[in-house]
Amino acid sequence: MTTLTHLECSRCSRRHEAGKVWNLCECGGPLVVRYDLERARQGWSRDWVNNGPTTMWRYAPVLPVAKPAAMISLGEGMTPLVRVPRLGERLGAKDLWLKDDGVNPTGSFKARGLACALSMAVELGVRKLAIPSAGNAASALAAYAAAAGLEAHIFMPRDVPQANFIECMSFGARVTLVDGLISDCARMVAEGAAREGWYDVSTLKEPYRIEGKKTMGYELAEQFRWTLPDAILYPTGGGVGIIGMWKAFAELEALGWVVGKRPKMIAVQVEGCQPVVRAYESGEDHCEFFQNAHTLAAGLRVPKPLGDFLILDAVRSSGGTAIAVSDEEALDAGVELAHREGIFAAPEGAACVAAVPKLIARGALDEGERIVIYNTGSGLKYLEAYSVRFPRHAAGEQDKLGGLITPR
Ligand SMILES: *Cc1c(COP(=O)(O)O)cnc(C)c1O
Ligand SMILES: [Zn+2]
Repeated sequence: MTTLTHLECSRCSRRHEAGKVWNLCECGGPLVVRYDLERARQGWSRDWVNNGPTTMWRYAPVLPVAKPAAMISLGEGMTPLVRVPRLGERLGAKDLWLKDDGVNPTGSFKARGLACALSMAVELGVRKLAIPSAGNAASALAAYAAAAGLEAHIFMPRDVPQANFIECMSFGARVTLVDGLISDCARMVAEGAAREGWYDVSTLKEPYRIEGKKTMGYELAEQFRWTLPDAILYPTGGGVGIIGMWKAFAELEALGWVVGKRPKMIAVQVEGCQPVVRAYESGEDHCEFFQNAHTLAAGLRVPKPLGDFLILDAVRSSGGTAIAVSDEEALDAGVELAHREGIFAAPEGAACVAAVPKLIARGALDEGERIVIYNTGSGLKYLEAYSVRFPRHAAGEQDKLGGLITPR
């Protein structure tokens, strides 16, 4: 099983003991999990992985769960990596791929992180969890809490996509709709944590979600037969995906499973909330709080990511870049992708599609490079957003194609 040894602060490097319940380090830095990779290297192999379960748990030696009975799985991970040549032709990219995490439980990659977090909650005896969320993290927490028989307290802005609200209610979570921003939700979770003893599973305040998310990097390597692509475009909100994949690549190198150059990590954001792009462009290593953040790509509405310095480090040391597109460009690109490839992506993933031709035009990507678009969610969770492109007419009205849409 796991080769976990301890946790380490990403800011001050202080060592924290395994087997205890932690949030942030005393210095405020997020904790990261460390493994005995030398032991893993000797006792584990790529063939084993090949014969493992077709979920992210095939990488169990580098995941934190020690007791198999604690593992809560709904089949997350091992999502399709699909070649998208018809889209590539349109965008001017000859070797374009899409990793589709929209097929995960609850329709987003958040399932990976919360499967891992909830398994660790079971292992460590935590029974009540709370989260502030813009949507998909709430759905995933609610689902895994239901599967584990734990209590989930969810605080989300009132304008959260309908799908997330309905899912959370169906999974039996205690949901509070907040007239305010995600930062207001976070404050309410912190108060509840102090008052009721809830465990706060906010992004990076809980050390195990990132471990689940790093499996995105392991899977990419495995699905490309233990090689890595030239570039990965990732829709960046809290940035945990980028931070997690970057950690995975370092671990894969330590295991001796991949060699050579790491992919360029490209952080894609939206114009209405682009703190990482601003910091990248002005050479800063932290983000400034992005005022009046607004976008229909709910997962990207993070005005000041807690792990900003880690995101910026991965982007810069990989030779990547950061770019923003508009909501309109993202929606159009989502429809284009659906049209050409039969994949209906979340606007977050669609933003990466929109970024490809811009990056080629800037010279940040080359048309012959192997490029992976990371789609983090299903378009089905964003019907309100996409319905702007396909308005329905009232009964009896003429539709655009000239036919009547109500039967006589
Ligand atoms: C949460 C979310 C994101 C942002 O993820 P990070 O890894 O925290 O940057 C992107 N897309 C979707 C669909 C999400 O739910
Ligand atoms: Zn610290």
